[in-house]
Amino acid sequence: MATMTDRKHEDVLRPLGIEARNLGGFAGEWMGSGKVQPVISPVDGEELATVVNVTKDEFDAILGRCHEAWKSWRLVPAPKRGEVVKDLGNELREHKEALGRLVSLEMGKCLREGLGEVQEMIDICDFAVGLSRQLYGLTMPSERRRHRLQEQWHPLGVVGVITAFNFPVAVWSWNAALALVCGDTLLWKPSSKTPLTALAVTRIAQRVLARHGFDPAICSLSIGRGSDIGDLINTDPRVALVSYTGSVPGGRHVGKLVQERFGRLILELGGNNAVIVSDKGDLDIALRAIYFGAIGTSGQRCTSTRRVIVHTSVYEAFVAQLTALYAKTTLGDPLDPANLMGPLVDQEAVKTMLAAIETAKEQGGKVVCGGEKVDLPGGCYVTPCLMEANSEMPIVAEETFAPVLYLIRYRTLEEAIAIQNGVPQGLSSAIITNDQAESELFLSVEGSDCGIANVNTGTSGAEIGGAFGGEKETGGGRESGSDAWKAYMRRQTNALNFSGGIELAQGITLDI
Ligand code: NAD
Repeated sequence: MATMTDRKHEDVLRPLGIEARNLGGFAGEWMGSGKVQPVISPVDGEELATVVNVTKDEFDAILGRCHEAWKSWRLVPAPKRGEVVKDLGNELREHKEALGRLVSLEMGKCLREGLGEVQEMIDICDFAVGLSRQLYGLTMPSERRRHRLQEQWHPLGVVGVITAFNFPVAVWSWNAALALVCGDTLLWKPSSKTPLTALAVTRIAQRVLARHGFDPAICSLSIGRGSDIGDLINTDPRVALVSYTGSVPGGRHVGKLVQERFGRLILELGGNNAVIVSDKGDLDIALRAIYFGAIGTSGQRCTSTRRVIVHTSVYEAFVAQLTALYAKTTLGDPLDPANLMGPLVDQEAVKTMLAAIETAKEQGGKVVCGGEKVDLPGGCYVTPCLMEANSEMPIVAEETFAPVLYLIRYRTLEEAIAIQNGVPQGLSSAIITNDQAESELFLSVEGSDCGIANVNTGTSGAEIGGAFGGEKETGGGRESGSDAWKAYMRRQTNALNFSGGIELAQGITLDI
């Protein structure tokens, strides 16, 4: 077993308090006596540390503490809660470099993207600080004389945050920053592929809460298998809201269990995002937007570009230029700034990608370039794949969570929009065009059916100011900016009568 002195990545792990062996549960104190799980870096196959999962009894204790913490946290004035989130953002600023490196090391995305992910955490904290003074309820005119009709927003309870491996810290923060100012407490179950970043962030939150004199159980952690710890979150009525980010099959399972007990749900599930490249668009913009969208995070973003629908008149030129760009992809250690693409998250993901390429070929797809395993330490590296395809191929309607980009031709914009919408998922979409009528049609009711629809920028790289999420099998949830905060609060409508008598709505009278 690695010791603190001989660990290869000590310089990344040490500043964030990651020991050789770490307990996976936190609710004011650290605990964990379940299965010991090794954490392997996809960057080089090194064991980074081990995490001791929580048992069912420990989960019960953690949730109990988190629920207790909520009873007092909800009483703290929202702007005061905002001050804690402000400090959380500042602490993240201080640890941006260290945390960004750990994100890269643990899940394999390039350092610039790891840093971007931490920046996203900082941004949502800033957003939430302002929000803490803007949790507005409406006042409506009452139909009754001397009555006031209003709504107000109350804290909801414990928010169970279940996160995917690909944004191991940002997704927690989208939920956490809003939930905290809304007066909720958090119980985080991270992906078992990325527990170390969750440990590091929980330690940061623990310090911030303690500094402000609040119960650190407000930000609790429970690391364990989805099938046991996840299901405990899904079924326990003490968890008022389950915010689940993950695959469509996972969301279907979670959705049923939470709905069964009428719990609140935010589902942020898979995407199958397309860019339409019009003959009236700027090819250079298209190339840059699509290249980053397809290879960023090695094609493992929920918003990764998976399909490009190109006007037939520019198809050949576009594919030739994109192929040339793909040939320039530098692949290797994501912590080395010279590399544009790092590994996939694990060897299983490599197998899944290679199998999908074989299936696509059987269905009529033709590989233009890439799609091969590369012999680098850790065994998780692949070249990004460009594939000529058509929308009738069943695999094109699936989300293969890897850098495989399907190239599809179109003749009319209506046809392109039909192809774009003709998949079960509905997360992100884009059109590259300089024609106003085309972009308006794309954004209109007859256009994209996705939660995100962009013009002259790619499908990937959302800003925190807008509400984030998608339609259809993507689950319908919204997180982050705009009025997404409302999902984290309980709305209460109040009628206040100061007439001195009693009057029923709708003019109903009772002669008593
Ligand atoms: P996954 O579905 O394998 O796992 C997601 C999380 O669910 C993990 O924490 C896992 O442990 C947990 N889980 C497993 N079984 C569970 C259960 N029975 N109950 C509760 N939780 C359970 O997904 P992944 O491979 O980690 O991530 C990739 C997927 O996530 C892709 O489909 C991607 O598109 C999606 N994703 C979506 C968004 C979005 O915002 N729409 C963002 C990031 C990732």
